[in-house]
Amino acid sequence: MPASQGGIHLARSEFLCLKDVHKTYGAVRAVDGVDLGIEPGRIFGLLGPNGAGKTTTLEMIEGLRRPDSGTITYGEHDLVRQPRVARERFGVQLQTSAFFELLRVDETIDLFASFYRHTLPTETLIERFELGEKRKAYVQHLSGGQRQRLAVAVALVNDPEVVFLDEPTAGLDPQARRNVWDSVRQLREEGRSVVLTTHYMDEAEALCDQLAVMDHGRVLDEGQPKELIARRMPGAFIELSSEVPIADDVSLPGLERLTREGPKTVLMTQHLDETLAALAEWARARDVPLTGLATRSATLEDVFLHLTGRSLRD
Ligand code: ATP
Repeated sequence: MPASQGGIHLARSEFLCLKDVHKTYGAVRAVDGVDLGIEPGRIFGLLGPNGAGKTTTLEMIEGLRRPDSGTITYGEHDLVRQPRVARERFGVQLQTSAFFELLRVDETIDLFASFYRHTLPTETLIERFELGEKRKAYVQHLSGGQRQRLAVAVALVNDPEVVFLDEPTAGLDPQARRNVWDSVRQLREEGRSVVLTTHYMDEAEALCDQLAVMDHGRVLDEGQPKELIARRMPGAFIELSSEVPIADDVSLPGLERLTREGPKTVLMTQHLDETLAALAEWARARDVPLTGLATRSATLEDVFLHLTGRSLRD
């Protein structure tokens, strides 16, 4: 049921489903058989290294590109046949570089509102995204955080059920990032679905209810962040400073893998207690101090590295 909260219309979301979606550009298989299910009222994160096929996937959902094959449905609507449903009911955050620098903030929102029949009031969006003081400022005079807030405001102009955010916090300082996170969570509280891409693993872990990791046009795995970590990387990590002279082929019970990460040596184990005890014994026997010793459980970054073989910023 639609309802109102602070002047914002609460939308009802439907299930968004991709089945065996393909898209090729010449010889490049940008999207190569993607299946995804995006639940209503959730924050969904699409992660992947550069060129993984994220943008192409999102553009096909948004109705901006046509898949070569496969189905994309939103509730009972076939979005490939009815891309207009996507345009009316979805909101897409544009890159801030797509704005006209010589338009004012309120004029920018009005301009995008003019493309739709059903819109939220410009003033409601200005207040909600704390752009009141900048209402009459030219876009060219906004800070990075203000531009990003304007971009999210514009994505909401048609009161969408699903909001697509492409790297919504790229280049922002920590405080501005937190503010965008709050705005994204508020969208979920209103019953909207959010689909976002990000290059920040901590952001994906903190913000997303559901994640999919893509590479080479395919979904490598998906699930809730905690569940993905527990399933893919159930072990723990022991970190040591590089001064500890431990060989790559050291034999310790439970040890699965030894890697060098910058100034650290990292041991991955399925049995932390056993490996730690054996490591302490190894060090005592050689009279080696275990400098920089720390233990930690796996993070999303570890899962990403494990699945794609590269870090997000490679
Ligand atoms: P990024 O994180 O860098 O934005 P991405 O995961 O969004 O990457 P896409 O932009 O979907 O990836 O690109 C997937 C592949 O398709 C890449 O190899 C890219 O070079 C190629 N590609 C994307 N758009 C086009 C196009 N219009 N014409 C030809 N090739 C394209």
